[in-house]
Amino acid sequence: MADLQSTHPMPKTPTLPTRIEVRSSEIHGTGAFAAKALRRGSFIGCYTGRRYTADEVAAREWDHALTFVFGLSDGSVIDGAEGGNATRHINHSCAPNCVAYEIEPEEGDPWIEIEALRPIAAGSELFLDYGLDVWDGDPDAFPCRCGSEGCRGTLLAAAD
Ligand SMILES: [Zn+2]
Repeated sequence: MADLQSTHPMPKTPTLPTRIEVRSSEIHGTGAFAAKALRRGSFIGCYTGRRYTADEVAAREWDHALTFVFGLSDGSVIDGAEGGNATRHINHSCAPNCVAYEIEPEEGDPWIEIEALRPIAAGSELFLDYGLDVWDGDPDAFPCRCGSEGCRGTLLAAAD
């Protein structure tokens, strides 16, 4: 996905998204929707929330809030259920219209930015492919109902 790398100026600190409306989703609970038409590559927001280090992650039980937890490459996570912004309401789809990037600054903690993967019409629901990587993950415990062609049937990452 190198051709989709972020081209907008990276924020020094994660900012609240201004391009998202939150309302009920036809697929699952609450969803996030495009507040206006978005071009491919448009910045949508940073995934914010409480940070847990890799050690803290290992010491905690996560099942109840797993779909709000965003894992980073250093083993830490961002839990959008605690202090997160509207991006935490972006639901999963196996055919997403958004993509999340981990941004690694030269100093400080990495963060997650979400961009439009393709043009998105105003009012459309936003989706990410969660590709959850779950400790002892049972695919049936995280069913997907996105209804897309090629749905994996689970929110978990595709098996290699
Ligand atoms: Zn699906």
